Amino acid sequence: MYSVIATAAVHGIAGMIVKVETDVTNGMPEFEMVGILSSEVKEARARIRAAIHNTGFLLPPKKVTVNLGPADVRKSGTGFDLPIALSVLAAYGLLESEACAGTLFTGEIGLSGRLRPVRGILPMVLTARDHGYTHVVIPKENEAEACMVKGMNIHPAKTLWEVISWLKGERTLEPGPINIEETGSPQEEPVDFSRINGQRVLRRACEVAASGMHNLLMVGPPGAGKTMVARALPGILPKLTEEERMELARIYSVSGRFEERRSNLYARPFRSPHYSVTATALVGGGRVAQPGEISLAHKGILFLDELTEYQRPVLEQLRQPLEERKVRLARVSGTYCYPADCMLVGAMNPCGCGYYPDKNKCACTPGDIRRHLRKVSRPLLDRMDMSVEVPRVKMSELTGSGENESSQAIRSRVEKAVELQERRYGQENFRYNSRIPADKIDTYCPMEPGARKQIARAYEQLNLSARAYHRLIRVARTIADLSESDLISESHMREALLYRTMDEAVWR
Ligand SMILES: [Zn+2]
Repeated sequence: MYSVIATAAVHGIAGMIVKVETDVTNGMPEFEMVGILSSEVKEARARIRAAIHNTGFLLPPKKVTVNLGPADVRKSGTGFDLPIALSVLAAYGLLESEACAGTLFTGEIGLSGRLRPVRGILPMVLTARDHGYTHVVIPKENEAEACMVKGMNIHPAKTLWEVISWLKGERTLEPGPINIEETGSPQEEPVDFSRINGQRVLRRACEVAASGMHNLLMVGPPGAGKTMVARALPGILPKLTEEERMELARIYSVSGRFEERRSNLYARPFRSPHYSVTATALVGGGRVAQPGEISLAHKGILFLDELTEYQRPVLEQLRQPLEERKVRLARVSGTYCYPADCMLVGAMNPCGCGYYPDKNKCACTPGDIRRHLRKVSRPLLDRMDMSVEVPRVKMSELTGSGENESSQAIRSRVEKAVELQERRYGQENFRYNSRIPADKIDTYCPMEPGARKQIARAYEQLNLSARAYHRLIRVARTIADLSESDLISESHMREALLYRTMDEAVWR
């Protein structure tokens, strides 16, 4: 007998329909699986045999052949267990094949027949919907994730037996009440800007960076509050759009971290990997390709504290993704692509001891300082749109009135600037000033003659690279937007130049 069951595989953050075909004939008893399978799929054989047995079925010894198609794509993951088990049962005539039509199945099975959660449920269910399936059977633990997809009948099950009874019409499988926004433990609340004293220039730089999603580097001594400011940044970022939210949920789904995202669906991610992070954990990779921190920070902030402490080769891995805003991983099984469109925020000390240029405290020689700064490569530095010197807060500022502007007040200006950008780039495939392609800068960044003269002078004096030159104009565009001006004026350009002093001062 022959049977076919529908399931799905995940490639990058996209789903793909896979058909499980099983043929059972009299002959030498064996269980063969074909269709370019990874080792964990091949291991399914043992799990499925035991699970079927422990669910109460006796399979007479026959020749069983299972094929997973399309044949030209490598299948990995453990989600094929459930569809293979059902397909085998149907091919043995123990289950009605027709009952499975129009339904997509996925789930790992334990030896006892219990279903275990799998990664990538969200892209799988979206693919099922796109291909006209109306029902999906998934492990119970994945139900919240699956229920994000509207217009689908989601059937969560705890065991293989429950799925079989449901197919026989003996029971229902309905999701429990799910309130996606109010479950789980929410991500740490961002620090409020009202708690940050002094740092007038840095506060303004944060507002500009958040408005245009510009990369930001903070350089200053320990205790200047760089980390605290970075932790305040998420609180002034513009709201996520529905599309951005869904894309993020997909990334967290394929990395098996949906629960982490679930309680923060409306917040932009804030990722701060420690400096001991490996290249694989930072940009993605592994034997079975997985998204890295830069993808988990998609549409949010990737914060690298103590930038000079990271392994330089690890940091260099960021260059390509920062430019392309996606990560491409080549594997034997194909090339995987993960979105990586984040705002990079870095913090570092100006020298080894951290107190340069305070001559009373810093004993570093010019050579020491140069060696310290060179830990960050020039090309990576070029990808920082803005760099700001963060001085130690003066005693008088620490004990000031404490009446600082709140994050909410800053965010209302940020959102106004974002609205302006949305209107301007309505027909484009980018949303923020930092994303204007080089060939469209002239179109979208008209300048007053004074501003033009100023940037021409800076280009010569600061010996800017073409990349840095374009970044400077994009930042000036955001500053002009914050003052609701269509033209970039001389003062907007002057302010943009203020945020590039670091590379002139210390990297030359
Ligand atoms: Zn020093």
